[in-house]
Amino acid sequence: MSTRKKIVAGNWKMNKTFSEGTALAEEITGKLEAGDVTVILGTPYIHLQAVGAIIKDHPNLFLAAQNCHQAAGGAYTGEISPAMLQSLGVQYVILGHSERRKYFGETDASVSEKVSIALAHDLLPIVCVGEELSVREAGKHEALVGEQIENALFDLSPEDFGKIVIAYEPVWAIGTGLTASPDQAQEMHGFIRNTLAAKYGDEIAQATTILYGGSCKPANAQSLFSQPDVDGGLIGGASLKADDFIAITNSY
Ligand code: PEP
Repeated sequence: MSTRKKIVAGNWKMNKTFSEGTALAEEITGKLEAGDVTVILGTPYIHLQAVGAIIKDHPNLFLAAQNCHQAAGGAYTGEISPAMLQSLGVQYVILGHSERRKYFGETDASVSEKVSIALAHDLLPIVCVGEELSVREAGKHEALVGEQIENALFDLSPEDFGKIVIAYEPVWAIGTGLTASPDQAQEMHGFIRNTLAAKYGDEIAQATTILYGGSCKPANAQSLFSQPDVDGGLIGGASLKADDFIAITNSY
């Protein structure tokens, strides 16, 4: 049995008004039993402070932002800095989500900058990687994911790399209802772990939490999480309903 940190992280994306979001956080906090899974709520920025206050006494619940800017501060209208997140007590930040890459021009280079500044502000990055369907069909998915990881993360010291969580999210499975099969997920997670081992050594690779994301729901979570290199999930749609999200956290 692996001793890696098991994580189920919800990514609320641009959903929930303020009152809907606090109601969801309250329901999850009330229903989630204490256990050995780290459960993270990735809320819109406007919810962070209130949700942080709601979850603060639950031993397993933590807070994530869905992005941050790569500059320490300054004239970047509409953006949020890592120092601002740190000042609210946010613990994690999701970086390089495929929707950020697709709609907001994020690249491996900007993800790399964000990872560094997030770490400098004591935020733990959840770094998303994953291929489009055409890349998988061309048999180049491992090469692409390997490149994304190398470009975004391999300038980190071993100590800093030890703080990273990786989320493998095949783009073709996000919000589509299509899920990678447990075998497909395991194959990629094993590849990622081998890639980490080649760069940082076996000990760090074995300690790194690698999440699966892409239409994960109560009906398929158990078969995905039972794969040896799948250490939990990044959950979009199913994180918006407390009962579904909690059922996923109970799927180990
Ligand atoms: C995500 O956005 O990270 C995600 C996995 O979404 P969904 O679960 O809705 O596919």
